[in-house]
Parts: sequence; C-alpha cells; structure tokens
Amino acid sequence: MRCVKALQLTLAVVKPDAVAHPLVLEALHQKILKNFIIVRKKDLMWRTEDSERFYAEHAGRFFYQRLVEFMASGPMRAYILAREDAITHWRGMMGPTKVFRARFTSPDTLRGQYGLTDTRNTTHGSDSVDSAKREISFFFPEFNADEWMSREEPRLRLRQ
Ligand code: GDP
Ligand code: MG
Repeated sequence: MRCVKALQLTLAVVKPDAVAHPLVLEALHQKILKNFIIVRKKDLMWRTEDSERFYAEHAGRFFYQRLVEFMASGPMRAYILAREDAITHWRGMMGPTKVFRARFTSPDTLRGQYGLTDTRNTTHGSDSVDSAKREISFFFPEFNADEWMSREEPRLRLRQ
C-alpha cells in the first residue's frame, strides 16, 4: 500500500500587482488548480490598517511603508490551499522574495515569471505551520480548519 502523508493547509495570496493583470491572474489560478485542492477562495481589498496588522513583523524595516501601502492599493485574491506539504510546495512555486534573484536563479517560478519589483512580487505564501494557522484566520476568520480536516481528509485520502 502506498504511504500517503497527511494533507496540510496553507494560505496563498495573489497580490494587487498580479490581480491587476487578468491574464496573469488566470495563469496563477490555473497553476493553483493543477497543484492543490482549493479549500476556499476570496477576492478582497485591504485598508491600510489591515496591511499594517498583517505585516507587523516587518514594522521598522526600510520597505515596510511601501509594502503596506502597496498591499492596500488594489484588490487581492486569497486562497486556502490543501495538499501534502502545501506550505513548502507553494513557497517553492512562488520562488525567492527578491525579484532579480527570482528572475535570474528561478525563472520558472511565479515571482521569476511575473514579479515586477521587490515589493510588487506577485504572491504571498505562509512560511510555517504556525504562520499558516495565523494567516488563514486573518483572511478567513469564519473557517474552522480542524472541522474541515476531520470531515474532508479521510474522503480526499480515499481518492488518491
Ligand atoms: P516573503 O515571505 O517571501 O513574501 O518575504 P518576507 O516575509 O521577507 O517579506 C514580505 C514582503 O515584503 C515581500 O513579499 C515583499 O513584498 C516585501 N519585501 C521583502 N523584502 C523586501 C526588500 O528588500 N525590498 C522591498 N522593496 N520589499 C521587500
Ligand atoms: Mg514572509
């Protein structure tokens, strides 16, 4: 019998620079569909206060002001995604944070293909189990991860 690892959830966000380009948004959506189970999807726009709260860990960094203004500058799309090793897989698909590194060392990643600048770098992804938990509740406060897992995971495992 094949050993199946447990499903994991992560939060993925398509940032305003990518949502502003319908073809880029659609390309990202197709890649997500191919690689993950889409658990929830939401289009939304932040106020600057939401942006500041979400990125509080970066307060004081030289790019913070630019980042919080950019993230509240237009619509975004947030997803809860599931698969084995979802956090690492999505981070791998995104590529490096800095756009020049992404372009030159990882041109096949989302940031390598579509990133515009270090700030406008297409996507966000949780970087640990704890941050995925926190960020999923930030974007989807009504979502109950434990309940979803206990209901869906046994069913989805049977399909593999
Ligand atoms: P991520 O987890 O790969 O998104 O990177 P971080 O958590 O370190 O940073 C959060 C976001 O801040 C990044 O996605 C960028 O949008 C922005 N950022 C990070 N580092 C820099 C930087 O050196 N310059 C600028 N302009 N923006 C940055
Ligand atoms: Mg980060």
